[in-house]
Amino acid sequence: MSEVDVKGASGLTRRARRAKPLLSIRARLIVIALLAIAPLMIERVRGLERARAGRAELALSQAIDLAHGGAAAQREIVSSMRALLQVVAHAYMRMPSDEAGCNRALSELIGNVSWLRGLNVAGLDGRIKCATDARAVGLNISDRSYFQTALHNRDFVLSDYLISRVHQLPGLIATYPVLKADGSIDGIILASINLQWMGNLAATAALRPDTSVDLIDGGGTLLAASANQGALIGRSFADTPLVRDMLAKDEGTMTTMGFDGVRRIFAFVRLPWTRARLAIGLDEAVVHGSIDHEISVAYLQLGLFGLLVLLVVWFGGERLILRPIQSLARVATRLGRGDLQVRASDEPWLAEFEPLADAFDDMACKLAAREEELQIANQHLEELASLDGLTGLANRRGFDRELNREWQQAGERCRPLALMMIDIDHFKLFNDRYGHVRGDASLRAVGETLSLVTLDEAVLVARYGGEEFALLLPQLDIERAKALAEEARRSIEDLMIVHAETTVGIVTISIGVAAMVPYPGQAAADLVEAADRALYAAKRRGRNTVVAQSPLLLGAASDAA
Ligand code: GH3
Ligand code: MG
Ligand code: MG
Repeated sequence: MSEVDVKGASGLTRRARRAKPLLSIRARLIVIALLAIAPLMIERVRGLERARAGRAELALSQAIDLAHGGAAAQREIVSSMRALLQVVAHAYMRMPSDEAGCNRALSELIGNVSWLRGLNVAGLDGRIKCATDARAVGLNISDRSYFQTALHNRDFVLSDYLISRVHQLPGLIATYPVLKADGSIDGIILASINLQWMGNLAATAALRPDTSVDLIDGGGTLLAASANQGALIGRSFADTPLVRDMLAKDEGTMTTMGFDGVRRIFAFVRLPWTRARLAIGLDEAVVHGSIDHEISVAYLQLGLFGLLVLLVVWFGGERLILRPIQSLARVATRLGRGDLQVRASDEPWLAEFEPLADAFDDMACKLAAREEELQIANQHLEELASLDGLTGLANRRGFDRELNREWQQAGERCRPLALMMIDIDHFKLFNDRYGHVRGDASLRAVGETLSLVTLDEAVLVARYGGEEFALLLPQLDIERAKALAEEARRSIEDLMIVHAETTVGIVTISIGVAAMVPYPGQAAADLVEAADRALYAAKRRGRNTVVAQSPLLLGAASDAA
């Protein structure tokens, strides 16, 4: 049995444990709030990332434009150069044959073309015989591949970027053959193109100080660079990933370490007719710098917003949900403790909680009404339990309760309390002779008579048990109590209930009387005992008599008659 109980209890506990939710209300609210704001936050973050990518794309397209611009500038110069060389080739035949005259005529012919560094005419042996810069005369360029190609092709030839032997500066050499009337080659016109276009490009790029402009020849040597990288010109970077990748393609983009060690976003193009690459690089940190700052600020804002939402939910949940629940729980606890006067609707409630508060109040009202009913029923039962069914008088239980109360009051007021113990004489014989029904009727008649006779003095007439009665008489001293007892005895005689088994032939009673002023150390039982002893004495004296037991004579009975 007990095992089953234990099992049942543990099953219940397990079920209760299973039913307990994993998350508190506030935790759930926070989850809901986070779910609500998460899409906003994700969208914001994605927007920022898109802006970052857009910014990088824009920077890259600017770099590509600049690179293409450089290529276009060079293309333009080369086509101008071709036209110029054709003019010079025709004019050369009419130039003075002496060196100084030729040099002068050549200089006058080209005037002041900004992108042209100089103009030379080489003989078939590769020696410069006429030049705008006299220092060049006599230089042998027969080993230069562009010269050999020019002799072979008999047409316009463009060198790769190279370092000029005359000026020791990087540039392009354009050649054009001077043909005699018979079609044979008289010499080769050489034009040295400077990097002025690059300077222009660098100036444009310099509008953004974080931009680098680099010109790399086909072998990976840095031929020219914007001012911020001027010190690196002439160095070979053939081994760097940047140059390797650039030389592998005609154009493209990449983000890698620049020549100066700064990470850059590069756009590069191959310059037309050459193997050289023009690279425009934008400092990655500068490009991303401002947007990264914006992103950091936005993340901070998102974090603060999230925190704010959490705080609002935490304290809002406390105020709007938990506090009302706790308040209702307090009301329920007080109701549980029996405080049925408490009312939930005394407090202001949010609309959602009002039905609950009303239900609590309704429950409190019903409980109060139920309790009142119970109290009345209990009182009734109490009364019933204290009454004797046969005579309608108080029973022994009622007597004991009343005795204790009167005893206490008498003690508090220092007044006497008298007690009569009454017993019907030879009642067993009455029953035996006349039967129990008449016995009961006699008991009722005796009870009624005792009540009537002592109406003014007795607070209680009780059926003490069987055919015994007890009367409580507050404020009556022993003498007055004895007199009243005598009156009671006579009134029973006067009933003249026939009892043939007695010597007087009627029903009589014996009465023991006791009276006491309670004092410390005494109990009500002492009074009962004294009255009992007096009754016993009355019986011994032949019955139908009253014996008073004075407190002063405890242990001995004094005869009343
Ligand atoms: P004594 O004079 O010494 O008191 O003699 P007695 O016969 O009255 O005393 P005893 O105690 O021997 O008998 C009491 C009788 O009271 C016994 C019982 O038949 C009777 N009695 C007790 N209660 C009831 C009751 O409720 N109805 C009736 N009819 N008789 C009762
Ligand atoms: Mg008796
Ligand atoms: Mg009796």
